[in-house]
Amino acid sequence: MARSRRKKSASAKSRLTKSEQMRRVRTSGTQPELVARKALWRLGYRYRLHTRLPGSPDLCFPRARIVVFIDGCFWHGCPIHYSAPATRAEFWSAKLRENIERDRRADQTLSRLRWTVIRIWEHEVEQDAAAAISRIASAIEESYVAQAAL
Ligand SMILES: [Zn+2]
Repeated sequence: MARSRRKKSASAKSRLTKSEQMRRVRTSGTQPELVARKALWRLGYRYRLHTRLPGSPDLCFPRARIVVFIDGCFWHGCPIHYSAPATRAEFWSAKLRENIERDRRADQTLSRLRWTVIRIWEHEVEQDAAAAISRIASAIEESYVAQAAL
């Protein structure tokens, strides 16, 4: 019994196209987020993870009042890398619209709560981590300067 059930799910899996499988692998990994985290920590920036803030930011810098999202190119509809899967096109385009709408609402709520929101594409970290990190670091530094001026 258990054996046939396992067989069934395996065949369901193989029905996914190759590119769908690839995307799953890429989006399930938190690699770019980890890269960013490690680099920022090494630079001495202390952050919090898993806050209960709207949209669940990947990183939160409470003192600078900055939250950072590292957005997956597929799930958040990167203009360069998003391409709709060939199968279940309707489902995926609805899903994407939903995700983008959710991101927008989170940004609005966060800025109303006076958080500065930084969104970075996963591919930005992958292609030029230093540039992505320095964007975050400069925003934090600017915020400190602004606070000190108050
Ligand atoms: Zn991208």
